[in-house]
Amino acid sequence: MSALAGNVYESIKALLMDQAIAPGAKITIDGLARDLGVSQTPVREALAALEADGLTVKAFNRSYRATAVITRDEFEDLFALRFQLEPWAAALAARRGPAELVDAMARSLAEVPPAPFEASYDEYRALTQHDQHFHHLVHLASGNSQLPIAFERLHVHLQNFRLYYGSGIGTQAVREHEAIHAAIRSGDPAAARAAMKAHLVASRNRLRPAFANGARSRSATSRRSGSLDQSDQSDGWYQQHDQNDPKDQNDPKDQNDPKDQHRSHEQSVES
Ligand SMILES: [Zn+2]
Repeated sequence: MSALAGNVYESIKALLMDQAIAPGAKITIDGLARDLGVSQTPVREALAALEADGLTVKAFNRSYRATAVITRDEFEDLFALRFQLEPWAAALAARRGPAELVDAMARSLAEVPPAPFEASYDEYRALTQHDQHFHHLVHLASGNSQLPIAFERLHVHLQNFRLYYGSGIGTQAVREHEAIHAAIRSGDPAAARAAMKAHLVASRNRLRPAFANGARSRSATSRRSGSLDQSDQSDGWYQQHDQNDPKDQNDPKDQNDPKDQHRSHEQSVES
């Protein structure tokens, strides 16, 4: 991917992660290229790469759709799976993890940026990358060759961070990672298993509010406002998914508001 394509990829990824492009929304290559002020080629490349990330899916007529955010059931299933696999992986890592990988965990922790103040993907990108990298190192250190491969397909970190960025989530997670690393380094499988389990339980509990009261995502203030948002008022790449969300109907604030269909987009413009 060229440097331009890389920038375009990051720009579109941020729009998807912040839900400035709503889950399920149609994305047209020419509309998005126009709004980003670039040719269609890097946009096409970026959307294909984002499909591999699980954030877009190909639709008709050279267009794409943003994938849906995971449902509550899928979220609970994902954590049930992680509870089975990751404490076990941490225990194996404590028993037989190579020193290079344990050192790499320490480096990943040392390099993690200070907590962001703005809950936008731009600010959280480094934290997301740390989280993904740290868990990947634990999976590698388990010595099970299939575990890192299986987790790569789950897109755990992208899905979780797309769901919800809350203030403080990152710093707490990093502290929990430090406990996991310390237990692995000391070669204590029981402590590593317990630390990973505690981290996953805490992580699930931090993310669960994203599903409460139909609030599927972050607050309006967390929406990203960027240069892309000024040009897409009408018929551009952004189209709200036309499927009614029954959760929205339960929220009294949302009733009888004709602007609802464009709510998430307008928030991205106003914030
Ligand atoms: Zn983590």
